[in-house]
Amino acid sequence: MKIDLHCHSSASDGTLSPSEVVFRAHRNGVSTLSLTDHDVTDGLEEAAQAAGTLSMRFIPGVEVSVTWEGNTLHVLGLGISPGCPALVAGLKGIRERRVTRGAHIADELSRVGIEGTLPAALELAAHPSNLSRVHFARVLVARGYARDVKSVFQQFLGEGKPGFVPQEWGSLDRAISWIKGSGGVAVLAHPGRYPFSQEKSGLLVREFKRFGGDGIELTSAGQSKAKSHFFADSCRKHQLCGSLGSDFHSPQESRIDIGRIPVFPDRVTSILSLLER
Ligand code: AMP
Ligand code: MN
Ligand code: MN
Ligand code: MN
Repeated sequence: MKIDLHCHSSASDGTLSPSEVVFRAHRNGVSTLSLTDHDVTDGLEEAAQAAGTLSMRFIPGVEVSVTWEGNTLHVLGLGISPGCPALVAGLKGIRERRVTRGAHIADELSRVGIEGTLPAALELAAHPSNLSRVHFARVLVARGYARDVKSVFQQFLGEGKPGFVPQEWGSLDRAISWIKGSGGVAVLAHPGRYPFSQEKSGLLVREFKRFGGDGIELTSAGQSKAKSHFFADSCRKHQLCGSLGSDFHSPQESRIDIGRIPVFPDRVTSILSLLER
């Protein structure tokens, strides 16, 4: 029984439509799937419908952008009610920042001679407020500035690079409260990807738990075994559950396909135990 609780559609920065994501997951043998687009729930209805035709279990999700101690973190909301007013308002506020940031990114890129990226990037986004750095990255790849999306981040869009624009998202405690207030559970996404020491990661986990967080993503694309074990220990210590997800974005760009994610270390309770039907 394969489970994947983290992936993206064209409603945010993925390239497949929500139903294409579901069909691909089904082909890969996934029986429980959550779609977790960045700061937006627009793809959930279509995905749920597609999953219904396949009798696949579908868990409505979202990946919320957060700023914690000056760093961007991602918190997954699983089993959310997308219509819950506080969640709707919170996500809308975050997406508004994507519009302004997009214009700033285009300005920064034009300073290094790369002109006219805003309209091109907007064309790739489902909605202006869903604009992602990934859309800019795809534009730069198409124009030959780099060979793939990852290289664009390394050369232009990552922190400290010429097209990087620092962004304040929402706070960690508010993101968790929107998720929990809508009936969902909050999961710290890909904890191994943040540039933190073990001490700082420990502090993050303690605060996440104190604010009402429920689980930690223990296996995710690119997360080392050592980090999985480190965070599995954190789960045991703080009574947090474990989650897993491919963070799939695109057949062309993602190294790990939907559902092809290793199970996490044992003696950790699955987040699915909090999401029983
Ligand atoms: P944004 O939320 O618009 O700032 O974009 C963040 C997204 O960019 C992440 O969800 C990933 O999909 C993508 N991303 C971030 N860093 C990298 C990287 N180094 N290589 C490839 N994609 C990245
Ligand atoms: Mn993404
Ligand atoms: Mn993420
Ligand atoms: Mn993601």
